[in-house]
Amino acid sequence: MSMSCKVACIVFACCVLVPTKLLAVQAAHRTEHSLWSQTRALTESELAALVSREATSKEAQTARIRALLTQSDRAINRSVVDATRYLEEAEALITTQEDASVVALAIRCQLAHRQSLPGAAQTCQQLTQNDRSQDAFVQAFAMTTRMYYLYREGSHQESINAAEHALSLAMVVDDPALIASAHNMMGLYFSTRLRPRMSVPHYEIALEQASRVPYAELKTITQLNLASSYNYLGRSREALTMLYESRGSQVVQIYPTRRLVVQSMIGQVRAALGETDGAEENLQRVIDEVGETVLPDGMTYGYTGLGVIQLAENRPLEALDNFDMVLALSGKSLETDLDYSRIQLMAVPYARALRMADRLAEARDLVLRIIASVPGDQPDQQLLDAYLELAVTLEALGDSEGAKAANEEATRVESTLWDASFKYQVERLSVSLESDRRALELARAQEREVALLSLAQRESRLRRQTWIIGAMIIAVIALFFSRRAQKRIADAQRSASLALEDQVRERTREMEDEMALRMTAEVDRIKLTERVMEGEKLRAMGQLTAGVAHDFNNLMTVVTLGANQLKDDLLPVENPDRAETIDNIRQAAETGAKITRGLLAYVREQPLNPEYLNLDEFLRESTALFRNTIGERIVLDVEAAPCSVLVDKAQLTTALLNVLLNAREAMPEGGRITLTLSAFGDQARIQIRDNGVGMAPHVLEQATEPFFTTKQHEEGSGLGLSMVFGFARQSNGDLHIESALGGGTTVTFFLPMAEARTASASDVSTASSNVPRAVRILAVDDRPSVLRVLKRSLSRMVDTVICATNATEALAMIEQQGLPDCVVTDIVMPGEIDGVGLVRTLRQRSPSLPAVLMSGYARDIDDECVYLQKPFSYDQLERAIEEALSREVESVPAHANG
Ligand code: ADP
Ligand code: MG
Repeated sequence: MSMSCKVACIVFACCVLVPTKLLAVQAAHRTEHSLWSQTRALTESELAALVSREATSKEAQTARIRALLTQSDRAINRSVVDATRYLEEAEALITTQEDASVVALAIRCQLAHRQSLPGAAQTCQQLTQNDRSQDAFVQAFAMTTRMYYLYREGSHQESINAAEHALSLAMVVDDPALIASAHNMMGLYFSTRLRPRMSVPHYEIALEQASRVPYAELKTITQLNLASSYNYLGRSREALTMLYESRGSQVVQIYPTRRLVVQSMIGQVRAALGETDGAEENLQRVIDEVGETVLPDGMTYGYTGLGVIQLAENRPLEALDNFDMVLALSGKSLETDLDYSRIQLMAVPYARALRMADRLAEARDLVLRIIASVPGDQPDQQLLDAYLELAVTLEALGDSEGAKAANEEATRVESTLWDASFKYQVERLSVSLESDRRALELARAQEREVALLSLAQRESRLRRQTWIIGAMIIAVIALFFSRRAQKRIADAQRSASLALEDQVRERTREMEDEMALRMTAEVDRIKLTERVMEGEKLRAMGQLTAGVAHDFNNLMTVVTLGANQLKDDLLPVENPDRAETIDNIRQAAETGAKITRGLLAYVREQPLNPEYLNLDEFLRESTALFRNTIGERIVLDVEAAPCSVLVDKAQLTTALLNVLLNAREAMPEGGRITLTLSAFGDQARIQIRDNGVGMAPHVLEQATEPFFTTKQHEEGSGLGLSMVFGFARQSNGDLHIESALGGGTTVTFFLPMAEARTASASDVSTASSNVPRAVRILAVDDRPSVLRVLKRSLSRMVDTVICATNATEALAMIEQQGLPDCVVTDIVMPGEIDGVGLVRTLRQRSPSLPAVLMSGYARDIDDECVYLQKPFSYDQLERAIEEALSREVESVPAHANG
């Protein structure tokens, strides 16, 4: 594995895997109970839809199980059969020891108990052992079940503790059904102990919560509980409202016992209100209807109700008959079973019936027994009723003292009950405040958790993005760089991701911008490196070119002069074919020389002959030449402001022609070229603008590279712009090209301005005159081949040519034969003295000695000598010598004066 791969793996692990794991843990910890809450908030039809949907994933499967269990839980109060069916469906889907299995077990426990199945206790015991769930909802559900179980088992005190616990858990998950169940249980606890005043607040809260659940059963059951407490407390109107509201509901209608209980209670409440019209008939009808479907124990409610109604209608004997039915059906007696719930409900009315039937002594005895059955330290509503009844009975018996005492006792009991209730309310208030506080804390904790989670999610998303961008950079760079570069980039990347991690908490945007910047910087760096390498390559090429050019130019001199001589030796009429071959040789040599010159120009090694030039004048003079070059189809506009520069005029002409030719080629259909000369700071600026095809960016980028061309093989050499560029730079100026595809091209020269001077004599071109044959010429070159062709060419011009292969030899010859009239010498020669040194030495003796310096290589040009660039033709050689001789003529008077 390469280094970058390792780095990538580590970055991947840190940025992606770790936070993902964290998220998973957090999510698991957080979401389970909210999923239950969501499910339990669904309506019946939504649950049914959820259950019937195809479950393709694990999540969908558990959602289905949750829905089935919720359905089962709801069905318990309505239909044990339905509840069992839903439960079994859910159990078939539960595979592992998951939370759902605890909920399922809890429902099974409730069902078993409700139906008094054998093994119910065992099931519930199992639930207690299995309850190891971490989930708050599951805990609340299990605890609620345990609460019911304990209550039905008769462990009332334990059940109330369980209810308290269940309530706090239910409030944590804010499940209204579970909260209502817990409060119902607490209300029931007090109802059983005949303390309706304490039950009422619990039932009222239960009712409020039950109204929040999306099904009716729980609400109805709570209303019934509340109605019975209201009734007991004499709040008959409220009780009646509740009873009427719940009477029609399904959960009342389908259970005969419940129907009976409701109707009985309606009767009793109406009796208390003194509105007994039809109450007895209605109750009797329900008793007849439910008939045998109700167990005898349930039937007792019916007869109690009938008795109470009859009492209200002042029919004590019939009432006593019905109360006796209750005793008969339940198999209890008023002597021994006064604490049995059914008997409790009926005991005081029974005594009242006895009194009204004038069986006063029996009535008094019963009431006293009732009073005695209530533990002294636990006064309840029944005790109050009993004392009130006792007072009336004793009054009837003529014992007004006793009646007064009983009344006082009743008042005492009532105030005790009020006190106890008041204390309990205060206690409950502080309990509910405490649980509110806990709920608030929990809500805050959840909020924090949610915030943390979203933060973690964002962080991990950003890390992932960072990593992806980072990986892209690593990949791109790995393609282009060596292993060492790869390592460096990976390191940089790693530190970049570390830096980015800090920024992650601030803003995503900032980080992405940063990454983009880094990418651009990296790309820039690559480009820069490429340029530096390119520059180095070109410098090396320059050195090579300059060296090659030197030798090559010497060879070309031999070829060119040789061809000249051959042609002259040959009369064209004699052999035209050969003459043509010789011309071809000469032309080829010239082309070779041009290429060398181009390359030398590019590497800025071209021999330049700078002179002061009025650029504006020069351009105006050259306009005709330019127009000839570009042809008639192209219009040339020239605008020139006065500017003067120090420049090689011939090279400048060549450069401008090159640019104009390019412009012409860019406008094959014709067009317009604007040539503008203007001053630009201390620079003269020549702009050549065409409206031709323009260049694509990649062409523009390479246009000045030697041999870069987009033209056909014969048409372009790719040396034009490279030469122009090299020349501009070598002249201490610069060259800029602007171009866009289809938008034309503008080439701009910058040349440093110089003080104008009048043209020197040397600028005046000499008229073509032949070199006098009497002139004695000294020719010096270290290459024998060059020297030989040079001697032969010179011999055509003059009679005497003295040859030497180096400076020392030349000086020795001059010692013997005297000074020549003109020296033609190579510049670069082996030995202590080179060509320039030789001319200087000779000029110590004759200061105006005409001299021609030849070179295949660029050098600083001695202003006093004529320079001849190798290779040259016979004509060029002749003109150079003529010029050298003419300078001597000019300088003679000066010499004579001095
Ligand atoms: P050559 O003309 O031999 O191709 P140059 O160095 O003169 O070589 O030019 C290089 C390339 O630059 C050309 O091949 C052409 O693609 C492009 N070029 C130069 N001048 C222009 C211009 N005025 N308009 C469009 N393209 C041009
Ligand atoms: Mg060109």
